[in-house]
Amino acid sequence: MLNIILFGPPGSGKGTQAKLLEKRFNLVHISTGDLFRYEIGHHTPLGQKAKSYIDKGLLVPDEVTIGMLQNKVEKHSDAAGFIFDGFPRTLPQAEALDAFLAQKHSQIDGLLMLEVDDDEILKRILNRGKTSGRSDDNNEAIIRNRIKVFNEQTAPIFDYYAQKNKSFKINGIGSIEEIADRLAQKVRELSEETTT
Ligand code: ADP
Repeated sequence: MLNIILFGPPGSGKGTQAKLLEKRFNLVHISTGDLFRYEIGHHTPLGQKAKSYIDKGLLVPDEVTIGMLQNKVEKHSDAAGFIFDGFPRTLPQAEALDAFLAQKHSQIDGLLMLEVDDDEILKRILNRGKTSGRSDDNNEAIIRNRIKVFNEQTAPIFDYYAQKNKSFKINGIGSIEEIADRLAQKVRELSEETTT
């Protein structure tokens, strides 16, 4: 299996790039943000709970998020590997993911961090908010809170995988194709390492 974490601040392009990588490498893309939005759209209890956090720019509690992620992975038991997008977002989530994959005799092969500065992020998300209909995309204070939450709670995950020599930085500024090529090159290297 080849398991990749696509990492980076909100608005760094993870969703866009994950869809391209999914096709190129025949992996299953799992976005916790998309899973939450599906639950919210279907007015499930999980969705209602998640919405109360998402609308404030806060993280959904780990116990809700980890269980949901594991269910989704279990549904794809025949997958050649996964692209995790938006997960893990806290250290306990990273530890839970590692333990969960270890049970399956698998592991994270690499974390690819899209580097984009805060001004560009704010611009991109406000722009996306014009069409996304996302309640967390059209208010500057909420977006700033999401960036703050990323820096405080999520960014340490880069170091967590760096200690295992698994974290890599990718320049997230450029055209969608340019960035996709940068990511694909790294994924190819990682896949060669897993097969040799
Ligand atoms: P973005 O990367 O643009 O912030 P996402 O679609 O990944 O958007 O996530 C939207 C929101 O869903 C987050 O701000 C957060 O509230 C919630 N969320 C997504 N993934 C997680 C997670 N792994 N843990 C906790 N909350 C999450």
